Amino acid sequence: MTATDILAKLVSFPVLGGQSNISIAEWIEAYLTEHDIPFTNVPNEEGTKRSIHCRIGPPLDGGVILSGHTDVVPVEGQTWTTDPFQLIDGNDGKLYARGSCDMKGFLACCLAAVPQMKAAELKKPIYFAFSYDEEIGCLAAPELAEHIKTTYSEKPKYAIIGEPSMMLPMVGQKGIVIYKTTVNGSAGHSSRIRTEVSAISEAARLILWLENKMMGLIEAGQVDERFTPPHTSIHSGVFEHSGIAPNVISDSATFYWDVRVIPKDKAVDILAEFEANCRLVENECRKRFPDFKIETIEFHPNVPALDTPAHLSVVPLIQKLSGVQELSTVAYAAEAGQFSNAGFETVICGPGDIAQAHRANEFISKEQLEKGEQFMLTLIEHLS
Ligand SMILES: [Zn+2]
Repeated sequence: MTATDILAKLVSFPVLGGQSNISIAEWIEAYLTEHDIPFTNVPNEEGTKRSIHCRIGPPLDGGVILSGHTDVVPVEGQTWTTDPFQLIDGNDGKLYARGSCDMKGFLACCLAAVPQMKAAELKKPIYFAFSYDEEIGCLAAPELAEHIKTTYSEKPKYAIIGEPSMMLPMVGQKGIVIYKTTVNGSAGHSSRIRTEVSAISEAARLILWLENKMMGLIEAGQVDERFTPPHTSIHSGVFEHSGIAPNVISDSATFYWDVRVIPKDKAVDILAEFEANCRLVENECRKRFPDFKIETIEFHPNVPALDTPAHLSVVPLIQKLSGVQELSTVAYAAEAGQFSNAGFETVICGPGDIAQAHRANEFISKEQLEKGEQFMLTLIEHLS
């Protein structure tokens, strides 16, 4: 099967983040079995989803993990001109389907190269690490990375995350976390605004506190010019459950805020400072309303940033494999920081343009898919 054939098969499984991925996992497993590649599953507790990993080549230290996710984002509300779960050749050099770019194109390149990987006399092994639920917060990758470490007696050294990067080497990624904050104030006639505690007013002050915190970080020199924007961003995008009438003081307000950190900032530090401020606000407001409360929970798990230093040997490796010397960073979150935290030297490099991901009429260019296939052959040659 060619990479295009495999891609056509992979995109036909409409597995969204959060849904069971058993259908696509079974197809990949059958393909590996056909090629006599033993594999290992990492199932979730309910057995409704599973990651897959396998090794091709000798059980020796220093191997390369090729990592990708099997889930995609929804198509609901998007205007597709073709069936999103069927690979369509647009006769314009592009292959259209949900996931064609993010990131089943990379999975197809990995799987299509299995016969060559097997035939080559690899001196170091290649591993596949295919996860689920990446699109709803990179939920499966930490367990998958740990599982790889305990399954094999040898130590894989490198992890290449095949997220769309136009096959350019990416050594940095911002981290992301989303918090949900709920403020409980006291209801009452709007004329009593100086007696009651308006949840909306307090929530608004907290949102401004967050914006000031972001500006403070920038002023303190917490910038990293490799990223756009070059600083940690803190932003509140949803404000809800707030108030019942213009003339009633609101007793509750909820807002969601996301933190996208550059590698030198830590979301947990920002949260700790925010919480400390909330305790001060609570102490003040409880003088008027003893039950006043501010609660913050993690709404989207904390996905760590990636910051691979130039002195690691994965850097010349990815420069050789991609044929590109210049190192860049990406603005999106991915499993890369998690693989790096697990101890693998990690970079992002995969076919397709992230600009095409998550939108209607997602596509991967045939040229990018071919580049992905060439990348696999270069990797095989490098390890042989
Ligand atoms: Zn992706």
